Amino acid sequence: MLAALLAFAFWYFLFEYQRQKDESEAYLEAASYGNVLRSEMDRELNSLLFISNGLSSFIKVYKDQLETRKVQAILADLWAQARHVRNLAVAVDYKLTYVYPEKGNEKIIGIDYREVPSQWPKVQLAIASGQGVLDGPLDLIQGGSGMVYRYPIFVEGSYWGIISTVIDTRAFLDAAFKHNLRNEFAFAIRTADDKHVFYGDPQLFRQKNAYIQESQVPNGKWEWAIENKKIHDLRDRRFGVMLSLVFSVVVGLFAYFFAKERYYLSEGALMDSLTGLPNRRLLENRLNYVHSEAKRFSKMFGLMALDVDHFKSINDNYGHDVGDEVIKQVANILKSNIRDVDTVSRLGGDEFVIVVRDQHSPESLVKVANKLLSVFKKPLHIHGHDITVHLSIGLTLFEPTSEVALKQLFKQADIALYQAKQKGRNTYSFWQ
Ligand code: GH3
Ligand code: MG
Repeated sequence: MLAALLAFAFWYFLFEYQRQKDESEAYLEAASYGNVLRSEMDRELNSLLFISNGLSSFIKVYKDQLETRKVQAILADLWAQARHVRNLAVAVDYKLTYVYPEKGNEKIIGIDYREVPSQWPKVQLAIASGQGVLDGPLDLIQGGSGMVYRYPIFVEGSYWGIISTVIDTRAFLDAAFKHNLRNEFAFAIRTADDKHVFYGDPQLFRQKNAYIQESQVPNGKWEWAIENKKIHDLRDRRFGVMLSLVFSVVVGLFAYFFAKERYYLSEGALMDSLTGLPNRRLLENRLNYVHSEAKRFSKMFGLMALDVDHFKSINDNYGHDVGDEVIKQVANILKSNIRDVDTVSRLGGDEFVIVVRDQHSPESLVKVANKLLSVFKKPLHIHGHDITVHLSIGLTLFEPTSEVALKQLFKQADIALYQAKQKGRNTYSFWQ
């Protein structure tokens, strides 16, 4: 059980460790990819914003000599240099006065920003902050969608007007990312204030494994969700639990069978723990050997079944600990009063069995029994008590001519023991 638990913990830890490592690696890759995209986007955006600065300087210098023709020529030149710009417009005060190209944008000429609720707040923000503001992507008055960069012009400290650069969102983003689109990643971008997703799959923002980053745009923020598709190939946690369970069961079973095997081979499996005598298993081993040897060499051997008389009352009178001590002393006495070649074993409780080898007659076995009965005439000294212990003994003799099986021999010894008890105990009986 412990081995299985340890195995489970080990495999699960290993699996989890690897999974988390792969996950953080995937995150790191997504983060570094995000950085590349962000800087590409910044570069592309900066290349557009210079237009407003140039135009602003021109207006500041020539504000008193502005002619439509000249302004249109400058706008046309700037527009030709810029990429992804749908149109450039200049509002004097709050009214859109110049636009290039004019074709397709006629509708916006003369519009007053203060009367366009969807655009006025960002215009106001640009004027109030004195800095450029990137708005959108939004639906344009002249149709279509675009991002609008609004740049306020101040002449000698007072507001003069505003420059709008309308950027074609799709063309701009495609140009920014064209060298950096990679199949292993998916990403989406949205505005931080109104969460409007204008690039990629909006679902990515709901994916718990997506890496989220922010980027600064003039007077605002964008949010990015970047997903490393590799993360889907990472094994599920449940798979880790299953795998660890299978491994732990295998290890647990292996440990169980190994321990069982070891135990059967160890002394503990063959010895009685209280007395240190051979237990039933070792007795059967030895008996098998003695039995086949006796059959082969036509020898006789004796089997004795011994049981302490009225052992229950010893337990009852003196307690279980004294009872245990009695069993131990009886075991020692039995062992020291038989030959080394013979086997004393404890079957359990107050029952013992002795195998007496190389017997020639019933009398020789009876002699051994009598000797054992006589050594128990003296009381045992246990924990300050003198306790008289008697045994009853059942005897049987294996005769090679009779071909009696071991099981039967056991039964005979048991019956003889029962008879000894019937005779009044502290005696032996010979099976006949
Ligand atoms: P009998 O003369 O008929 O043998 O009577 P008995 O009281 O000895 O009865 P029996 O042999 O049937 O009972 C043996 C008792 O030994 C039963 C049990 O309470 C007790 N016993 C069994 N194992 C142990 C043990 O390991 N330690 C102790 N102290 N007592 C045990
Ligand atoms: Mg008994």
